[in-house]
Amino acid sequence: MLEGKTALVTGASRGIGRQIALTLAKYGADVIINYNGSAQRAEEVAQEIRAMGRRAETVQCSVADFEACREMAEFALKTFGHIDILVNNAGITRDNLLMRISEADFDAVMDTNLKGTFNTIHHFYKAFLKQRSGRIINLSSVTGILGNAGQANYAASKAGVIGLTKSVARELAGRSITVNAVAPGFIDTEMTQAMTDSAKEAVLSQIPMKQVGQTEDIAETVAFLASDRARYITGQVISVDGGMSM
Ligand code: NAP
Repeated sequence: MLEGKTALVTGASRGIGRQIALTLAKYGADVIINYNGSAQRAEEVAQEIRAMGRRAETVQCSVADFEACREMAEFALKTFGHIDILVNNAGITRDNLLMRISEADFDAVMDTNLKGTFNTIHHFYKAFLKQRSGRIINLSSVTGILGNAGQANYAASKAGVIGLTKSVARELAGRSITVNAVAPGFIDTEMTQAMTDSAKEAVLSQIPMKQVGQTEDIAETVAFLASDRARYITGQVISVDGGMSM
Protein backbone atom coordinates (compact mmCIF):
# COMPACT_ATOMS: atom_id res chain seq x y z
CA MET A 1 0.00 0.00 0.00
CA LEU A 2 2.90 2.41 0.74
CA GLU A 3 5.80 0.75 -1.08
CA GLY A 4 8.38 3.30 -2.24
CA LYS A 5 6.90 6.05 -0.05
CA THR A 6 8.80 8.01 2.58
CA ALA A 7 7.36 9.45 5.78
CA LEU A 8 8.24 11.64 8.70
CA VAL A 9 6.29 11.10 11.92
CA THR A 10 6.66 13.59 14.77
CA GLY A 11 6.59 12.30 18.33
CA ALA A 12 7.20 8.76 17.14
CA SER A 13 9.22 7.52 20.10
CA ARG A 14 6.14 6.42 22.07
CA GLY A 15 2.39 5.88 22.01
CA ILE A 16 0.33 6.66 18.93
CA GLY A 17 3.26 8.11 16.97
CA ARG A 18 5.34 4.99 17.51
CA GLN A 19 2.49 2.81 16.24
CA ILE A 20 1.96 5.10 13.22
CA ALA A 21 5.67 4.80 12.31
CA LEU A 22 5.56 1.00 12.62
CA THR A 23 2.33 0.74 10.63
CA LEU A 24 3.54 2.96 7.78
CA ALA A 25 6.65 0.76 7.62
CA LYS A 26 4.52 -2.40 7.70
CA TYR A 27 2.79 -1.14 4.55
CA GLY A 28 6.15 -0.45 2.87
CA ALA A 29 7.21 3.10 3.76
CA ASP A 30 10.66 4.25 4.89
CA VAL A 31 10.27 6.37 8.01
CA ILE A 32 11.99 9.22 9.82
CA ILE A 33 11.22 9.06 13.52
CA ASN A 34 11.13 12.40 15.27
CA TYR A 35 11.42 12.56 19.04
CA ASN A 36 12.01 15.21 21.67
CA GLY A 37 13.45 13.60 24.81
CA SER A 38 13.18 9.81 24.33
CA ALA A 39 16.27 9.08 22.22
CA GLN A 40 16.59 5.43 23.17
CA ARG A 41 12.93 4.63 22.57
CA ALA A 42 13.09 6.37 19.19
CA GLU A 43 16.11 4.26 18.25
CA GLU A 44 14.20 1.10 19.27
CA VAL A 45 11.38 2.08 16.91
CA ALA A 46 13.95 2.62 14.15
CA GLN A 47 15.45 -0.81 14.80
CA GLU A 48 12.03 -2.47 14.61
CA ILE A 49 11.46 -0.79 11.25
CA ARG A 50 14.89 -1.80 9.92
CA ALA A 51 14.09 -5.39 10.98
CA MET A 52 11.09 -5.17 8.58
CA GLY A 53 13.52 -4.38 5.75
CA ARG A 54 12.60 -0.71 5.56
CA ARG A 55 14.84 2.33 6.07
CA ALA A 56 14.52 4.29 9.29
CA GLU A 57 16.35 7.24 10.82
CA THR A 58 15.77 9.15 14.04
CA VAL A 59 15.92 12.92 14.46
CA GLN A 60 15.77 14.91 17.69
CA CYS A 61 13.79 18.13 17.40
CA SER A 62 11.22 19.92 19.51
CA VAL A 63 8.42 20.68 17.09
CA ALA A 64 7.77 23.83 19.13
CA ASP A 65 11.08 25.23 17.82
CA PHE A 66 10.60 26.84 14.39
CA GLU A 67 14.29 26.84 13.39
CA ALA A 68 14.86 23.29 14.64
CA CYS A 69 11.94 22.20 12.43
CA ARG A 70 13.65 23.81 9.45
CA GLU A 71 16.76 21.72 10.16
CA MET A 72 14.65 18.59 10.61
CA ALA A 73 12.93 19.12 7.26
CA GLU A 74 16.30 19.66 5.56
CA PHE A 75 17.66 16.49 7.20
CA ALA A 76 14.61 14.47 6.11
CA LEU A 77 14.67 15.70 2.52
CA LYS A 78 18.42 15.08 2.27
CA THR A 79 18.23 11.63 3.87
CA PHE A 80 15.41 10.20 1.73
CA GLY A 81 15.56 12.59 -1.26
CA HIS A 82 11.88 13.38 -0.86
CA ILE A 83 9.12 13.05 1.76
CA ASP A 84 5.68 11.84 0.69
CA ILE A 85 3.92 11.65 4.05
CA LEU A 86 4.13 14.09 6.95
CA VAL A 87 2.37 13.04 10.15
CA ASN A 88 2.08 15.72 12.84
CA ASN A 89 1.53 13.60 15.91
CA ALA A 90 3.69 15.18 18.65
CA GLY A 91 1.47 16.47 21.42
CA ILE A 92 1.33 17.22 25.12
CA THR A 93 -1.26 17.96 27.81
CA ARG A 94 -1.09 20.30 30.81
CA ASP A 95 -4.58 19.72 32.20
CA ASN A 96 -6.22 22.00 34.75
CA LEU A 97 -9.28 24.14 35.26
CA LEU A 98 -8.84 27.32 33.26
CA MET A 99 -8.37 29.50 36.34
CA ARG A 100 -5.43 27.28 37.33
CA ILE A 101 -3.77 27.03 33.93
CA SER A 102 -0.59 29.09 34.10
CA GLU A 103 0.49 31.17 31.15
CA ALA A 104 3.47 28.82 30.76
CA ASP A 105 1.20 25.77 30.58
CA PHE A 106 -1.09 27.44 28.06
CA ASP A 107 1.86 28.41 25.89
CA ALA A 108 3.58 25.02 26.14
CA VAL A 109 0.49 23.19 24.88
CA MET A 110 -0.18 25.67 22.08
CA ASP A 111 3.50 25.75 21.07
CA THR A 112 3.78 21.97 20.79
CA ASN A 113 0.35 20.96 19.50
CA LEU A 114 -0.65 23.85 17.25
CA LYS A 115 2.46 25.85 16.43
CA GLY A 116 4.43 22.60 16.13
CA THR A 117 2.03 21.51 13.38
CA PHE A 118 2.44 24.86 11.63
CA ASN A 119 6.24 24.68 12.01
CA THR A 120 6.69 21.35 10.25
CA ILE A 121 4.18 22.04 7.48
CA HIS A 122 5.84 25.43 6.88
CA HIS A 123 9.21 23.83 6.25
CA PHE A 124 7.91 21.01 4.01
CA TYR A 125 5.49 23.20 2.08
CA LYS A 126 7.78 24.14 -0.84
CA ALA A 127 9.03 20.58 -1.28
CA PHE A 128 5.45 19.28 -1.42
CA LEU A 129 4.46 21.99 -3.92
CA LYS A 130 7.40 21.08 -6.14
CA GLN A 131 6.68 17.36 -6.17
CA ARG A 132 2.95 18.01 -6.78
CA SER A 133 2.00 15.22 -4.42
CA GLY A 134 2.00 14.52 -0.74
CA ARG A 135 -0.01 13.60 2.29
CA ILE A 136 -0.21 15.67 5.47
CA ILE A 137 -2.00 14.08 8.41
CA ASN A 138 -2.44 16.04 11.63
CA LEU A 139 -3.46 14.58 14.98
CA SER A 140 -6.35 16.50 16.48
CA SER A 141 -8.56 15.10 19.26
CA VAL A 142 -12.16 14.49 20.24
CA THR A 143 -11.44 17.23 22.78
CA GLY A 144 -10.85 19.70 19.96
CA ILE A 145 -14.35 18.88 18.66
CA LEU A 146 -16.36 18.64 21.89
CA GLY A 147 -14.26 20.61 24.38
CA ASN A 148 -13.52 19.16 27.82
CA ALA A 149 -13.60 20.66 31.29
CA GLY A 150 -10.03 20.87 32.56
CA GLN A 151 -8.50 20.87 29.08
CA ALA A 152 -9.14 24.40 27.73
CA ASN A 153 -5.55 24.80 26.54
CA TYR A 154 -5.45 21.35 24.94
CA ALA A 155 -8.92 21.71 23.37
CA ALA A 156 -8.00 25.10 21.92
CA SER A 157 -4.80 23.68 20.42
CA LYS A 158 -6.60 20.70 18.90
CA ALA A 159 -9.47 22.83 17.55
CA GLY A 160 -6.76 25.04 16.07
CA VAL A 161 -5.27 22.00 14.35
CA ILE A 162 -8.64 21.46 12.62
CA GLY A 163 -8.78 25.03 11.30
CA LEU A 164 -5.18 24.82 10.17
CA THR A 165 -5.82 21.48 8.46
CA LYS A 166 -8.81 22.75 6.48
CA SER A 167 -7.05 25.96 5.44
CA VAL A 168 -3.88 24.22 4.24
CA ALA A 169 -6.02 21.58 2.52
CA ARG A 170 -7.63 24.36 0.48
CA GLU A 171 -4.22 25.86 -0.34
CA LEU A 172 -2.73 22.57 -1.55
CA ALA A 173 -5.69 20.74 -3.08
CA GLY A 174 -4.91 21.96 -6.61
CA ARG A 175 -1.53 20.23 -6.48
CA SER A 176 -2.98 16.84 -5.47
CA ILE A 177 -1.66 17.21 -1.94
CA THR A 178 -4.16 16.11 0.68
CA VAL A 179 -4.31 17.45 4.22
CA ASN A 180 -6.49 15.71 6.78
CA ALA A 181 -6.86 15.45 10.53
CA VAL A 182 -7.44 12.36 12.62
CA ALA A 183 -9.27 12.96 15.88
CA PRO A 184 -8.67 10.14 18.35
CA GLY A 185 -10.98 9.55 21.28
CA PHE A 186 -9.66 7.85 24.39
CA ILE A 187 -6.62 5.81 23.38
CA ASP A 188 -4.54 3.63 25.68
CA THR A 189 -1.13 5.41 25.87
CA GLU A 190 1.08 6.99 28.52
CA MET A 191 -0.87 10.24 27.97
CA THR A 192 -4.10 8.64 29.17
CA GLN A 193 -2.48 6.21 31.65
CA ALA A 194 -1.52 9.33 33.63
CA MET A 195 -5.23 10.04 34.33
CA THR A 196 -6.83 9.15 37.68
CA ASP A 197 -9.10 6.07 37.79
CA SER A 198 -12.18 8.23 38.36
CA ALA A 199 -11.30 10.44 35.38
CA LYS A 200 -10.83 7.32 33.23
CA GLU A 201 -14.21 5.93 34.34
CA ALA A 202 -15.89 9.24 33.56
CA VAL A 203 -14.50 9.17 30.02
CA LEU A 204 -15.37 5.49 29.52
CA SER A 205 -19.00 6.22 30.36
CA GLN A 206 -19.09 8.67 27.43
CA ILE A 207 -17.87 6.14 24.86
CA PRO A 208 -20.80 4.44 23.05
CA MET A 209 -18.57 1.43 22.26
CA LYS A 210 -17.71 1.13 25.98
CA GLN A 211 -14.04 0.42 25.39
CA VAL A 212 -10.83 2.42 25.06
CA GLY A 213 -9.19 2.61 21.66
CA GLN A 214 -5.81 1.13 20.82
CA THR A 215 -2.91 2.85 19.07
CA GLU A 216 -3.47 0.49 16.11
CA ASP A 217 -6.94 1.99 15.56
CA ILE A 218 -5.36 5.39 14.93
CA ALA A 219 -2.35 4.10 13.01
CA GLU A 220 -4.46 2.12 10.51
CA THR A 221 -6.57 5.23 9.80
CA VAL A 222 -3.43 7.32 9.25
CA ALA A 223 -2.00 4.66 6.92
CA PHE A 224 -5.20 4.67 4.87
CA LEU A 225 -5.16 8.47 4.58
CA ALA A 226 -1.49 8.28 3.57
CA SER A 227 -2.21 5.79 0.78
CA ASP A 228 -3.41 6.26 -2.79
CA ARG A 229 -6.75 4.77 -1.72
CA ALA A 230 -7.50 8.10 0.00
CA ARG A 231 -6.45 10.26 -2.95
CA TYR A 232 -9.81 12.08 -3.13
CA ILE A 233 -10.15 12.81 0.60
CA THR A 234 -8.90 16.20 1.80
CA GLY A 235 -9.74 18.77 4.46
CA GLN A 236 -11.52 16.17 6.57
CA VAL A 237 -11.49 15.35 10.25
CA ILE A 238 -11.75 11.60 10.73
CA SER A 239 -12.90 10.73 14.24
CA VAL A 240 -11.59 7.43 15.59
CA ASP A 241 -13.28 7.45 18.97
CA GLY A 242 -15.72 4.57 19.47
CA GLY A 243 -18.58 6.96 18.73
CA MET A 244 -17.70 9.58 21.35
CA SER A 245 -18.15 12.58 19.05
CA MET A 246 -21.27 11.47 17.16
P1 NAP B 1 2.26 10.25 24.41
O1 NAP B 1 2.16 8.79 24.67
O2 NAP B 1 2.35 11.18 25.56
O3 NAP B 1 3.50 10.51 23.40
C1 NAP B 1 3.77 11.80 22.99
C2 NAP B 1 4.82 11.81 21.92
O4 NAP B 1 5.00 13.18 21.51
C3 NAP B 1 6.17 11.31 22.40
O5 NAP B 1 6.77 10.56 21.37
C4 NAP B 1 6.96 12.59 22.66
O6 NAP B 1 8.34 12.48 22.41
C5 NAP B 1 6.38 13.50 21.60
N1 NAP B 1 6.57 14.92 21.91
C6 NAP B 1 6.09 15.63 22.94
N2 NAP B 1 6.51 16.91 22.86
C7 NAP B 1 7.27 17.00 21.73
C8 NAP B 1 7.98 18.04 21.10
N3 NAP B 1 7.99 19.29 21.59
N4 NAP B 1 8.66 17.77 19.96
C9 NAP B 1 8.64 16.53 19.42
N5 NAP B 1 7.99 15.50 19.99
C10 NAP B 1 7.31 15.72 21.12
O7 NAP B 1 1.00 10.76 23.55
P2 NAP B 1 -0.05 9.92 22.67
O8 NAP B 1 -1.16 9.52 23.54
O9 NAP B 1 0.65 8.89 21.86
O10 NAP B 1 -0.62 11.09 21.72
C11 NAP B 1 -0.13 11.30 20.40
C12 NAP B 1 -0.98 12.37 19.73
O11 NAP B 1 -2.36 11.97 19.71
C13 NAP B 1 -0.95 13.70 20.46
O12 NAP B 1 -1.00 14.76 19.53
C14 NAP B 1 -2.22 13.68 21.28
O13 NAP B 1 -2.67 14.96 21.60
C15 NAP B 1 -3.16 12.95 20.33
N6 NAP B 1 -4.28 12.33 21.02
C16 NAP B 1 -4.11 11.34 21.92
C17 NAP B 1 -5.22 10.79 22.57
C18 NAP B 1 -5.10 9.67 23.56
O14 NAP B 1 -6.14 9.26 24.08
N7 NAP B 1 -3.92 9.14 23.86
C19 NAP B 1 -6.50 11.27 22.28
C20 NAP B 1 -6.63 12.29 21.35
C21 NAP B 1 -5.52 12.81 20.72
P3 NAP B 1 9.48 12.25 23.56
O15 NAP B 1 9.04 11.09 24.38
O16 NAP B 1 10.70 11.96 22.75
O17 NAP B 1 9.57 13.51 24.34
